[in-house]
Amino acid sequence: MRFADIPFHEEVKKRLREMADSGRLPHALLLEGPQGSGKFNLARAMAQYIHCTARTAGGDACGRCPSCLQHASLGHIDTFFSFPVLKRKSGQTTLSDDYLPEFKQFLTDSPYMDFEQWLSMLGNPNGQPLIYVDEASALLERMNRTARQSQYKIVLMWLPERLQEAAANKLLKLVEEPYPDTLFIMVSDNAREILPTILSRTQRISVRRYTDDEVRQIMQSAGSSEDEADCIAEMADGNINLALKLRNNNIASTRYLDQFMELMRKAYLRRVNDLRKWSTEVADMGREGSIRFYDYCARLVRENFILNIGDTRIVSMSPAEMEFSRRFSPYINVVNVERIFDTITAARNDTMLNGNGKIIAFDLAVKMILLIKQGQEG
Ligand SMILES: [Zn+2]
Repeated sequence: MRFADIPFHEEVKKRLREMADSGRLPHALLLEGPQGSGKFNLARAMAQYIHCTARTAGGDACGRCPSCLQHASLGHIDTFFSFPVLKRKSGQTTLSDDYLPEFKQFLTDSPYMDFEQWLSMLGNPNGQPLIYVDEASALLERMNRTARQSQYKIVLMWLPERLQEAAANKLLKLVEEPYPDTLFIMVSDNAREILPTILSRTQRISVRRYTDDEVRQIMQSAGSSEDEADCIAEMADGNINLALKLRNNNIASTRYLDQFMELMRKAYLRRVNDLRKWSTEVADMGREGSIRFYDYCARLVRENFILNIGDTRIVSMSPAEMEFSRRFSPYINVVNVERIFDTITAARNDTMLNGNGKIIAFDLAVKMILLIKQGQEG
């Protein structure tokens, strides 16, 4: 990660760069600020810059020296990641390294460090991960050794507010009487929850929330259209993780709407062969995707029924859904609505029970031919 890879935050980059250039690095640096503002990227870029053996004239890591290549592969020999994890079994030591492959995957998949995603990668969406005392002991031991390749050994610690109290106390010694060649770069979403004794010994740098305009530009460079980026920026509150989630939901519902329209059109036209192809596409969404799709279908059928019986005030659909539904809603009426619901629910339940996705979808599609016909006559 180079400074140039990180959008905006020029003022923070400048401070970090000057710190490294002057050779007067603190022993513990704290980057603090709201979630989804790219703090950990800045920490990674700082570590790479410090270790780079051929810094550019513009004040960035070169990206090509052996150190930079090690950083790019997340395997720099004098850089250690420390982050909250879950205990696997009580009584066992628990180190961040136990989850290092998952964490590296996480850095790749979610560079803005979405905590919910980390929880799901740890295998428990309701977990309360911590940095355990065993991890603090391991860090002490590592820092005690001299750097193997570079001038500095660097610990990149994500979420020091999740240090177990005993772990924080153990680390305190290291932060109070540091070895000359060590640097802690801590990255916190909530610095107020860091143990005060640790906090007071760090040099704090605030990383601000991205502005709406910055979010808009980041989303556009990640492939969003101007309209989509506008809409997302307004809702994301400067949080890139939230912005990415909003976009994924948007992509998913666009895809679901396409599949829903395809089902209803082909069922109306009784194109059995097309419906067979359609059922393959639904099966290709996988079990979880199919379940979400059937939920989506149920919602849209309900909204269409409400639209048909005439109460547009309580209809909640996107403009694209509404456009289709204006023409489609007459086919969803008192004659067939209940059976359509039951058919969709049955498909969902069969999918939950690990039935064959393609057979389930095709069965639904064939039933829909009859149900739409009934609605037409009703
Ligand atoms: Zn380099």
